[in-house]
Amino acid sequence: MTSHMMDRPLLVSSLLAHAVQNHSQAEIVTRRVEGDIHRYTWGEAALRAAKVANALTRLGVKPGDRVGTLAWNTYRHLELYFGISGMGAVLHTINPRLFPEQVTWIANHAEDRVLFVDLTFLPLVEAIADHLKTIEAIVVMTDGDTMPKVNLPNVICYEELIARESTQYHWPELDERAPAALCYTSGTTGNPKGVMYTHRSTVLHAWGAQAPAALDIGGDTVILPVVPMFHVNSWGIPYAAAMTGAKLAFPGPALDGKSLHELIEREQVTLALGVPTVWLGLLNYLDSINARLTTVKRVVVGGSAAPLSMIRAFDQKHGAFLVHAWGMTEMSPLGTVNAPTTELMALPAEERYARQAKQGRPVFGVELKIIDDAGKELPRDGKTFGRLLVRGPWIVGNYYRNDDRSSFVDGWFDTGDVATLDELNTMQIVDRKKDVIKSGGEWISSIDLENVAVGHPAIKEACVIGVPHPKWDERPLLLCILKDNHACTKEEMLDYLSGHVAKFWLPDDVLFVKDLPHTATGKLLKVDLRKQYANHLMP
Ligand code: AMP
Repeated sequence: MTSHMMDRPLLVSSLLAHAVQNHSQAEIVTRRVEGDIHRYTWGEAALRAAKVANALTRLGVKPGDRVGTLAWNTYRHLELYFGISGMGAVLHTINPRLFPEQVTWIANHAEDRVLFVDLTFLPLVEAIADHLKTIEAIVVMTDGDTMPKVNLPNVICYEELIARESTQYHWPELDERAPAALCYTSGTTGNPKGVMYTHRSTVLHAWGAQAPAALDIGGDTVILPVVPMFHVNSWGIPYAAAMTGAKLAFPGPALDGKSLHELIEREQVTLALGVPTVWLGLLNYLDSINARLTTVKRVVVGGSAAPLSMIRAFDQKHGAFLVHAWGMTEMSPLGTVNAPTTELMALPAEERYARQAKQGRPVFGVELKIIDDAGKELPRDGKTFGRLLVRGPWIVGNYYRNDDRSSFVDGWFDTGDVATLDELNTMQIVDRKKDVIKSGGEWISSIDLENVAVGHPAIKEACVIGVPHPKWDERPLLLCILKDNHACTKEEMLDYLSGHVAKFWLPDDVLFVKDLPHTATGKLLKVDLRKQYANHLMP
């Protein structure tokens, strides 16, 4: 049967066109890499995105070609988001926190032709330049005055590249299933895997993300995206802001508590998004100067589990609702959001916080189910846990130039997370499949233990790993970093934990360490720790 409805393509360029026509005056503020504050509007951003597209055309970039970026959250990166994808090329955001060998591997695997680089990451590029096989030009994202001397061939200054280009560009009417953006997972083992987002998946994801039941973004929202544009498209915020006319306050490279606080108060931020470590930094800073946030209504936390103590602190000290969200690179990234509901907000505070600690319900477009190892679907009872599978129009169907199909099961994607689903389809992550601790046939969630441990007033960060044990196969080992000027002993910690978790969950040992290793996306790097402490409980 033929459709009687129009079949207009969903394109990244249509988001920009919409922004220009409908809210060209909405502001985009950036703390620049150069240090100062830059301000302009969506209208001006669109003119400069057109200049980017013209410049890339002049450099010979064709539809489908990959263009890399190594850049912070700034207005120039935003221009690349729309300029590159809009012209039909592929925006390939690279995470500069990866090891140099991984950055090289990723740029070569993607066959990036042009690489846009912030000043901060120039030393990295200089170090690996000899190994980059396909890059024809490197564009330094700054102006003539601050352009450093770079000892590499084909280096161009961003502002000089676009200076003489026209502000007019006819955005092509592409196939909505054409590739728009590429992002590699930062897997802890093996080579990173590429996820190629299409125009369609990107627009649908933005539509889902901005909805009231999800991140709730509108023309009166002032967004601080701390979550980087070099990791899963800053959770889709650049696109969702273009769709809605929200004001953007980009933090650039300054992600410390003091800089974030300053930006939040000056720009009257209402919605801030980031991983728990960033918010820990901000909360500790605010405590140290005895300050309160005055404008923030909601803080979205994802990437790792939000601890109960953080949910409580934002509510009680800053009057901000912590929206717990879950997703992954393979999901563009949004999967579930624990958004406020009438029923949730009516609960007594502590009961509500406990509910907020769950990762939330799927955004419309995402379906979830949990299965056992035999592939049987498990009940939604809030207790039974299993492998979490997802499907939807913005979820990866296969990895880019990679034949590994091991995560794809009958049209579903196996997330590698272990979770419960309750009667209302609220999802709670129990653990990463590889991090869950198997003690004498019982499972222990390292995430739950960590979240209880960081609730102790002396603890800054906690990490729980399963280590080999002669009797129980594996037992939990707790590693803690103390807050400055605080003390805690193993006995005090075990005593504290025993008030919150089952006896057999209590760690067999507690170690106080100076540092904990993290992945390029801020998650605890447990593989290394498991190796390091493999013999800790063995005779
Ligand atoms: P990435 O692809 O780097 O964004 O990592 C995705 C993984 O991060 C997920 O599969 C989860 O294991 C973890 N993750 C993301 N959000 C959360 C959350 N809210 N709570 C616990 N784990 C999370």
